[in-house]
Amino acid sequence: MKNWQKSVLWLTVIGSVVFVGSCTVGGSEAGVYRKGKVKMSVSKEVFGKTAEGEEVDVYRLVNANGVQARIMTYGGVLLSLEVPDNKGRLGDVVLGHDRLEKYLAGDPYFGAIVGRYGNRIGKGKFTLDGVAYQLATNNGENHLHGGLKGFDKVVWGARAVREADAVGVRLNYMSVDGEEGYPGNLSCVVTYRLTNEDELKIDYEATTDKATPVNLTHHSYFNLAGQGWGEILNHELMLMADKFTPVDKGLIPTGELRSVKGTPMDFTRPTKIGSRITAEDEQLKFGGGYDHNFVLNSGGRKLALAARVYEALSGRVMEVYTTEPGIQFYSGNFLDGTDVGKGGKVYNYRNGFCLETQHFPDSPNKAEFPSAIVRPGKKLESETIYKFYVKCK
Ligand code: BGC
Repeated sequence: MKNWQKSVLWLTVIGSVVFVGSCTVGGSEAGVYRKGKVKMSVSKEVFGKTAEGEEVDVYRLVNANGVQARIMTYGGVLLSLEVPDNKGRLGDVVLGHDRLEKYLAGDPYFGAIVGRYGNRIGKGKFTLDGVAYQLATNNGENHLHGGLKGFDKVVWGARAVREADAVGVRLNYMSVDGEEGYPGNLSCVVTYRLTNEDELKIDYEATTDKATPVNLTHHSYFNLAGQGWGEILNHELMLMADKFTPVDKGLIPTGELRSVKGTPMDFTRPTKIGSRITAEDEQLKFGGGYDHNFVLNSGGRKLALAARVYEALSGRVMEVYTTEPGIQFYSGNFLDGTDVGKGGKVYNYRNGFCLETQHFPDSPNKAEFPSAIVRPGKKLESETIYKFYVKCK
Protein backbone atom coordinates (compact mmCIF):
# COMPACT_ATOMS: atom_id res chain seq x y z
CA MET A 1 0.00 0.00 0.00
CA LYS A 2 1.38 3.43 -0.98
CA ASN A 3 1.83 6.12 1.68
CA TRP A 4 -1.00 8.32 0.39
CA GLN A 5 -3.33 5.27 0.41
CA LYS A 6 -2.39 4.58 4.03
CA SER A 7 -3.13 8.20 4.95
CA VAL A 8 -6.56 8.04 3.30
CA LEU A 9 -7.32 4.80 5.14
CA TRP A 10 -6.32 6.30 8.49
CA LEU A 11 -8.30 9.48 7.89
CA THR A 12 -11.36 7.37 7.06
CA VAL A 13 -10.96 5.29 10.24
CA ILE A 14 -10.46 8.37 12.45
CA GLY A 15 -13.35 10.15 10.72
CA SER A 16 -15.79 7.32 11.32
CA VAL A 17 -14.78 6.96 15.00
CA VAL A 18 -15.40 10.69 15.53
CA PHE A 19 -18.72 10.51 13.70
CA VAL A 20 -20.03 7.44 15.54
CA GLY A 21 -18.80 8.97 18.79
CA SER A 22 -20.79 12.15 18.25
CA CYS A 23 -23.87 10.12 17.38
CA THR A 24 -23.96 7.75 20.30
CA VAL A 25 -22.16 9.33 23.24
CA GLY A 26 -23.35 12.34 25.18
CA GLY A 27 -21.28 14.77 27.24
CA SER A 28 -21.43 15.61 30.91
CA GLU A 29 -23.31 18.92 31.02
CA ALA A 30 -27.02 19.44 31.51
CA GLY A 31 -29.04 19.50 28.29
CA VAL A 32 -26.99 16.59 27.04
CA TYR A 33 -27.84 12.90 26.82
CA ARG A 34 -25.90 10.94 29.46
CA LYS A 35 -26.75 7.26 29.13
CA GLY A 36 -27.25 5.72 32.58
CA LYS A 37 -25.52 8.65 34.34
CA VAL A 38 -28.43 10.69 35.63
CA LYS A 39 -30.34 10.26 38.89
CA MET A 40 -33.95 9.38 38.03
CA SER A 41 -36.47 11.74 39.57
CA VAL A 42 -40.09 12.87 39.76
CA SER A 43 -40.75 16.33 41.12
CA LYS A 44 -43.86 18.42 41.38
CA GLU A 45 -44.51 22.15 41.38
CA VAL A 46 -47.51 24.44 41.09
CA PHE A 47 -48.16 25.55 37.51
CA GLY A 48 -51.10 27.88 38.17
CA LYS A 49 -54.82 28.01 38.93
CA THR A 50 -57.92 27.56 36.80
CA ALA A 51 -60.59 30.30 36.64
CA GLU A 52 -62.47 28.33 39.35
CA GLY A 53 -59.41 28.53 41.59
CA GLU A 54 -58.37 24.88 41.23
CA GLU A 55 -54.62 24.33 41.58
CA VAL A 56 -52.82 22.88 38.58
CA ASP A 57 -49.53 21.07 39.15
CA VAL A 58 -46.75 20.07 36.82
CA TYR A 59 -44.77 16.85 37.26
CA ARG A 60 -41.25 16.71 35.90
CA LEU A 61 -39.98 13.22 35.07
CA VAL A 62 -36.27 12.64 34.46
CA ASN A 63 -34.95 9.23 33.43
CA ALA A 64 -31.47 7.75 33.99
CA ASN A 65 -30.24 9.27 30.69
CA GLY A 66 -31.43 12.83 31.34
CA VAL A 67 -34.46 12.52 29.07
CA GLN A 68 -37.25 14.68 30.52
CA ALA A 69 -41.02 14.93 30.30
CA ARG A 70 -43.25 17.52 31.98
CA ILE A 71 -46.92 16.69 32.49
CA MET A 72 -49.52 18.96 34.01
CA THR A 73 -52.70 17.96 35.80
CA TYR A 74 -54.88 20.21 33.60
CA GLY A 75 -55.84 18.00 30.67
CA GLY A 76 -53.01 15.59 31.49
CA VAL A 77 -51.04 17.69 29.02
CA LEU A 78 -47.51 16.69 28.07
CA LEU A 79 -45.94 20.16 28.28
CA SER A 80 -42.51 19.20 27.01
CA LEU A 81 -40.49 16.17 26.05
CA GLU A 82 -36.73 16.47 25.73
CA VAL A 83 -35.03 13.69 23.80
CA PRO A 84 -31.53 13.47 22.26
CA ASP A 85 -30.49 14.25 18.70
CA ASN A 86 -27.59 12.62 16.86
CA LYS A 87 -25.10 14.96 18.57
CA GLY A 88 -26.35 13.91 22.01
CA ARG A 89 -28.12 17.23 22.59
CA LEU A 90 -31.53 17.15 24.25
CA GLY A 91 -34.32 19.03 22.48
CA ASP A 92 -38.03 19.50 23.06
CA VAL A 93 -40.02 17.67 20.37
CA VAL A 94 -43.62 18.59 21.30
CA LEU A 95 -45.56 21.78 20.63
CA GLY A 96 -47.18 23.62 23.53
CA HIS A 97 -47.26 26.72 25.70
CA ASP A 98 -45.12 28.12 28.51
CA ARG A 99 -48.02 29.26 30.67
CA LEU A 100 -51.27 27.71 31.95
CA GLU A 101 -53.32 30.77 30.86
CA LYS A 102 -52.64 29.90 27.22
CA TYR A 103 -54.09 26.43 27.70
CA LEU A 104 -57.09 27.79 29.61
CA ALA A 105 -57.77 30.25 26.78
CA GLY A 106 -58.16 27.31 24.37
CA ASP A 107 -55.70 25.55 22.11
CA PRO A 108 -55.81 22.73 19.54
CA TYR A 109 -55.41 19.95 22.15
CA PHE A 110 -51.61 20.37 22.42
CA GLY A 111 -50.27 17.29 24.27
CA ALA A 112 -53.59 16.54 25.95
CA ILE A 113 -55.38 13.39 27.00
CA VAL A 114 -58.46 13.25 24.85
CA GLY A 115 -61.75 11.68 25.95
CA ARG A 116 -64.34 10.47 26.75
CA TYR A 117 -64.41 9.70 23.04
CA GLY A 118 -61.39 10.88 21.05
CA ASN A 119 -62.09 11.89 17.43
CA ARG A 120 -65.52 12.38 15.86
CA ILE A 121 -69.00 10.98 16.39
CA GLY A 122 -71.34 11.93 13.53
CA LYS A 123 -73.89 14.57 14.61
CA GLY A 124 -73.01 13.64 18.20
CA LYS A 125 -75.65 10.91 18.08
CA PHE A 126 -75.60 7.21 18.77
CA THR A 127 -77.94 4.50 20.03
CA LEU A 128 -76.77 2.04 22.65
CA ASP A 129 -78.84 -0.87 24.02
CA GLY A 130 -81.94 0.71 22.44
CA VAL A 131 -81.44 4.14 24.01
CA ALA A 132 -80.67 7.17 21.79
CA TYR A 133 -78.07 9.63 23.10
CA GLN A 134 -77.27 13.16 22.00
CA LEU A 135 -73.78 14.39 22.83
CA ALA A 136 -72.53 17.97 22.81
CA THR A 137 -71.60 19.09 19.28
CA ASN A 138 -68.48 21.21 18.97
CA ASN A 139 -67.17 20.58 15.45
CA GLY A 140 -69.85 21.81 13.09
CA GLU A 141 -72.69 19.36 13.55
CA ASN A 142 -70.34 16.69 14.93
CA HIS A 143 -68.92 15.75 18.32
CA LEU A 144 -65.10 15.99 18.51
CA HIS A 145 -62.66 14.90 21.24
CA GLY A 146 -65.20 14.56 24.04
CA GLY A 147 -67.26 17.70 23.40
CA LEU A 148 -67.23 21.24 24.79
CA LYS A 149 -65.39 20.29 27.95
CA GLY A 150 -63.52 17.09 27.23
CA PHE A 151 -60.85 15.37 29.31
CA ASP A 152 -58.31 17.86 27.94
CA LYS A 153 -60.05 20.66 29.88
CA VAL A 154 -60.42 19.14 33.35
CA VAL A 155 -58.02 18.94 36.29
CA TRP A 156 -56.90 15.37 36.97
CA GLY A 157 -55.90 13.96 40.34
CA ALA A 158 -52.25 12.88 40.34
CA ARG A 159 -49.57 11.00 42.18
CA ALA A 160 -45.94 10.27 41.43
CA VAL A 161 -44.82 6.84 40.20
CA ARG A 162 -41.31 5.60 41.04
CA GLU A 163 -40.19 2.23 39.70
CA ALA A 164 -36.83 0.49 39.15
CA ASP A 165 -36.58 1.46 35.48
CA ALA A 166 -39.18 4.19 35.08
CA VAL A 167 -40.59 7.32 36.64
CA GLY A 168 -44.11 8.53 36.05
CA VAL A 169 -47.31 10.16 37.06
CA ARG A 170 -50.63 8.42 37.60
CA LEU A 171 -53.60 10.64 36.74
CA ASN A 172 -57.21 9.97 37.65
CA TYR A 173 -60.51 11.56 36.69
CA MET A 174 -64.15 10.70 37.39
CA SER A 175 -66.39 11.66 34.49
CA VAL A 176 -69.95 11.79 35.83
CA ASP A 177 -73.10 10.31 34.29
CA GLY A 178 -74.47 12.77 31.72
CA GLU A 179 -71.23 14.73 31.24
CA GLU A 180 -71.23 16.09 27.65
CA GLY A 181 -74.22 13.77 27.10
CA TYR A 182 -72.46 10.45 27.83
CA PRO A 183 -74.11 7.71 29.90
CA GLY A 184 -72.52 6.31 33.06
CA ASN A 185 -70.04 7.37 35.70
CA LEU A 186 -66.68 6.62 34.15
CA SER A 187 -63.64 6.31 36.37
CA CYS A 188 -60.43 6.88 34.37
CA VAL A 189 -56.80 6.33 35.21
CA VAL A 190 -54.04 7.37 32.83
CA THR A 191 -50.44 6.62 33.75
CA TYR A 192 -47.54 8.26 31.97
CA ARG A 193 -44.19 6.55 32.47
CA LEU A 194 -40.80 7.67 31.21
CA THR A 195 -38.62 4.56 31.02
CA ASN A 196 -34.85 4.24 30.93
CA GLU A 197 -35.29 2.90 27.38
CA ASP A 198 -36.36 6.46 26.42
CA GLU A 199 -39.99 5.49 26.02
CA LEU A 200 -42.99 7.56 27.00
CA LYS A 201 -45.47 4.85 27.96
CA ILE A 202 -49.13 5.69 28.40
CA ASP A 203 -51.51 3.25 30.08
CA TYR A 204 -55.23 3.95 29.96
CA GLU A 205 -57.76 2.29 32.27
CA ALA A 206 -61.47 2.95 32.66
CA THR A 207 -64.44 1.39 34.43
CA THR A 208 -68.09 2.36 34.21
CA ASP A 209 -71.45 1.75 35.90
CA LYS A 210 -73.40 1.99 32.58
CA ALA A 211 -72.46 0.99 29.04
CA THR A 212 -70.72 3.91 27.30
CA PRO A 213 -68.44 4.61 24.35
CA VAL A 214 -64.84 5.35 25.39
CA ASN A 215 -61.89 6.21 23.15
CA LEU A 216 -58.95 7.60 25.08
CA THR A 217 -55.94 8.99 23.26
CA HIS A 218 -52.98 11.36 23.52
CA HIS A 219 -52.77 14.46 21.35
CA SER A 220 -49.15 15.61 21.19
CA TYR A 221 -48.06 17.52 18.12
CA PHE A 222 -44.54 16.32 17.37
CA ASN A 223 -41.75 17.97 15.47
CA LEU A 224 -38.67 15.75 15.71
CA ALA A 225 -36.40 18.57 14.51
CA GLY A 226 -37.51 20.38 17.68
CA GLN A 227 -40.67 22.31 18.53
CA GLY A 228 -40.90 25.52 16.53
CA TRP A 229 -38.48 24.32 13.87
CA GLY A 230 -40.92 24.69 11.01
CA GLU A 231 -42.74 22.28 8.73
CA ILE A 232 -42.83 18.56 9.35
CA LEU A 233 -43.08 17.74 5.64
CA ASN A 234 -39.56 16.29 5.45
CA HIS A 235 -40.19 13.78 8.23
CA GLU A 236 -40.27 10.22 6.89
CA LEU A 237 -43.27 8.27 8.09
CA MET A 238 -44.03 4.59 8.02
CA LEU A 239 -47.43 3.29 9.12
CA MET A 240 -48.11 -0.40 9.69
CA ALA A 241 -51.43 -0.08 7.91
CA ASP A 242 -52.54 -1.58 4.60
CA LYS A 243 -55.94 0.08 4.94
CA PHE A 244 -57.50 3.33 6.13
CA THR A 245 -61.02 4.54 6.83
CA PRO A 246 -62.04 7.05 4.12
CA VAL A 247 -64.14 9.99 5.31
CA ASP A 248 -66.84 12.32 4.02
CA LYS A 249 -66.32 16.08 3.90
CA GLY A 250 -67.20 16.40 7.60
CA LEU A 251 -64.39 13.89 8.33
CA ILE A 252 -66.82 11.17 9.41
CA PRO A 253 -65.79 7.70 8.16
CA THR A 254 -67.99 6.23 5.45
CA GLY A 255 -67.64 2.76 6.99
CA GLU A 256 -65.40 1.43 4.24
CA LEU A 257 -61.95 -0.02 4.96
CA ARG A 258 -60.03 0.99 1.84
CA SER A 259 -56.66 -0.29 0.66
CA VAL A 260 -53.89 2.36 0.70
CA LYS A 261 -52.24 0.79 -2.36
CA GLY A 262 -51.62 3.25 -5.17
CA THR A 263 -52.94 6.21 -3.10
CA PRO A 264 -51.22 9.06 -1.17
CA MET A 265 -52.30 7.16 1.98
CA ASP A 266 -49.69 4.48 1.35
CA PHE A 267 -47.07 4.80 4.11
CA THR A 268 -46.31 1.08 4.24
CA ARG A 269 -42.71 2.05 3.33
CA PRO A 270 -40.93 5.08 4.86
CA THR A 271 -42.17 8.09 2.86
CA LYS A 272 -41.81 11.83 3.37
CA ILE A 273 -45.02 13.32 4.78
CA GLY A 274 -44.84 16.11 2.19
CA SER A 275 -44.13 13.98 -0.86
CA ARG A 276 -47.79 13.55 -1.91
CA ILE A 277 -49.66 15.91 0.43
CA THR A 278 -50.61 18.29 -2.40
CA ALA A 279 -51.71 15.50 -4.77
CA GLU A 280 -55.10 15.79 -6.46
CA ASP A 281 -57.00 13.43 -4.15
CA GLU A 282 -60.48 13.63 -2.68
CA GLN A 283 -59.44 12.31 0.74
CA LEU A 284 -56.59 14.83 1.06
CA LYS A 285 -59.01 17.55 -0.01
CA PHE A 286 -61.52 16.60 2.71
CA GLY A 287 -58.79 16.52 5.37
CA GLY A 288 -56.95 19.62 4.13
CA GLY A 289 -54.01 17.19 4.12
CA TYR A 290 -53.72 14.05 6.24
CA ASP A 291 -56.38 13.77 8.93
CA HIS A 292 -57.27 10.09 8.68
CA ASN A 293 -57.60 6.95 10.71
CA PHE A 294 -55.34 4.12 9.60
CA VAL A 295 -56.37 0.52 10.20
CA LEU A 296 -53.43 -1.14 11.91
CA ASN A 297 -52.42 -4.51 10.51
CA SER A 298 -52.06 -5.83 14.07
CA GLY A 299 -55.84 -5.60 14.54
CA GLY A 300 -55.19 -4.08 17.96
CA ARG A 301 -55.04 -7.47 19.57
CA LYS A 302 -51.60 -7.07 21.14
CA LEU A 303 -48.97 -4.38 21.64
CA ALA A 304 -47.43 -3.90 18.19
CA LEU A 305 -45.48 -1.36 16.17
CA ALA A 306 -47.92 1.08 14.57
CA ALA A 307 -45.66 3.85 13.20
CA ARG A 308 -42.05 4.92 12.79
CA VAL A 309 -41.02 8.51 12.04
CA TYR A 310 -37.52 9.69 11.12
CA GLU A 311 -36.20 13.24 10.85
CA ALA A 312 -32.87 13.39 9.03
CA LEU A 313 -31.38 16.68 10.34
CA SER A 314 -31.64 15.67 14.01
CA GLY A 315 -31.35 11.93 13.34
CA ARG A 316 -34.29 11.44 15.71
CA VAL A 317 -36.55 8.43 15.32
CA MET A 318 -39.88 7.99 17.06
CA GLU A 319 -41.67 4.66 17.12
CA VAL A 320 -45.26 4.24 18.22
CA TYR A 321 -46.48 0.95 19.67
CA THR A 322 -50.07 0.36 20.66
CA THR A 323 -52.73 -2.14 21.63
CA GLU A 324 -55.31 -0.03 19.75
CA PRO A 325 -56.68 -1.07 16.33
CA GLY A 326 -56.27 2.37 14.71
CA ILE A 327 -54.09 5.46 14.52
CA GLN A 328 -55.09 8.96 13.43
CA PHE A 329 -52.39 10.60 11.38
CA TYR A 330 -53.02 14.34 11.44
CA SER A 331 -50.54 16.60 9.59
CA GLY A 332 -51.30 19.80 11.53
CA ASN A 333 -53.51 21.25 8.78
CA PHE A 334 -55.39 23.58 11.13
CA LEU A 335 -52.26 25.19 12.58
CA ASP A 336 -52.18 28.68 11.10
CA GLY A 337 -49.69 30.78 13.04
CA THR A 338 -52.25 32.06 15.56
CA ASP A 339 -50.66 29.88 18.25
CA VAL A 340 -47.51 31.44 19.64
CA GLY A 341 -45.99 28.65 21.67
CA LYS A 342 -43.04 27.85 23.91
CA GLY A 343 -40.18 30.29 23.72
CA GLY A 344 -42.26 32.59 21.49
CA LYS A 345 -42.18 30.08 18.62
CA VAL A 346 -44.99 30.58 16.11
CA TYR A 347 -46.74 27.40 15.05
CA ASN A 348 -47.55 27.71 11.39
CA TYR A 349 -49.34 25.42 8.97
CA ARG A 350 -48.07 21.83 9.29
CA ASN A 351 -45.44 22.64 11.91
CA GLY A 352 -46.39 19.58 13.94
CA PHE A 353 -48.02 16.20 13.38
CA CYS A 354 -50.12 13.95 15.62
CA LEU A 355 -50.23 10.17 15.80
CA GLU A 356 -53.26 9.41 17.95
CA THR A 357 -53.76 5.74 18.76
CA GLN A 358 -57.46 4.97 18.93
CA HIS A 359 -60.58 3.02 18.04
CA PHE A 360 -61.93 4.11 14.65
CA PRO A 361 -63.83 7.42 14.55
CA ASP A 362 -67.64 7.21 14.72
CA SER A 363 -67.46 3.58 15.83
CA PRO A 364 -70.63 3.91 18.01
CA ASN A 365 -72.50 4.28 14.68
CA LYS A 366 -70.56 1.69 12.71
CA ALA A 367 -71.32 -1.87 13.77
CA GLU A 368 -68.62 -3.12 11.37
CA PHE A 369 -65.84 -1.24 13.26
CA PRO A 370 -64.19 -2.68 16.42
CA SER A 371 -66.45 -1.77 19.33
CA ALA A 372 -65.43 1.03 21.72
CA ILE A 373 -68.25 0.29 24.16
CA VAL A 374 -67.17 -0.26 27.77
CA ARG A 375 -69.62 -2.12 30.01
CA PRO A 376 -69.94 -2.45 33.79
CA GLY A 377 -67.67 -5.17 35.17
CA LYS A 378 -65.33 -5.04 32.19
CA LYS A 379 -62.34 -2.74 32.57
CA LEU A 380 -60.93 -0.89 29.56
CA GLU A 381 -57.16 -1.34 29.33
CA SER A 382 -55.10 0.16 26.57
CA GLU A 383 -51.41 0.92 26.12
CA THR A 384 -49.40 3.15 23.81
CA ILE A 385 -45.65 3.73 23.74
CA TYR A 386 -43.74 6.54 22.03
CA LYS A 387 -40.12 5.38 21.83
CA PHE A 388 -37.19 7.61 20.88
CA TYR A 389 -33.71 6.94 19.57
CA VAL A 390 -31.31 8.34 17.02
CA LYS A 391 -30.18 6.91 13.74
CA CYS A 392 -26.61 7.45 12.55
CA LYS A 393 -26.30 7.76 8.79
C1 BGC B 1 -58.37 15.79 14.42
C2 BGC B 1 -58.41 17.05 13.60
C3 BGC B 1 -58.66 18.19 14.54
C4 BGC B 1 -57.55 18.23 15.55
C5 BGC B 1 -57.83 19.29 16.58
C6 BGC B 1 -57.24 15.91 15.38
O1 BGC B 1 -57.21 14.79 16.19
O2 BGC B 1 -58.22 14.65 13.63
O3 BGC B 1 -59.42 16.98 12.63
O4 BGC B 1 -58.75 19.40 13.87
O5 BGC B 1 -57.47 17.02 16.22
O6 BGC B 1 -56.77 20.09 16.76
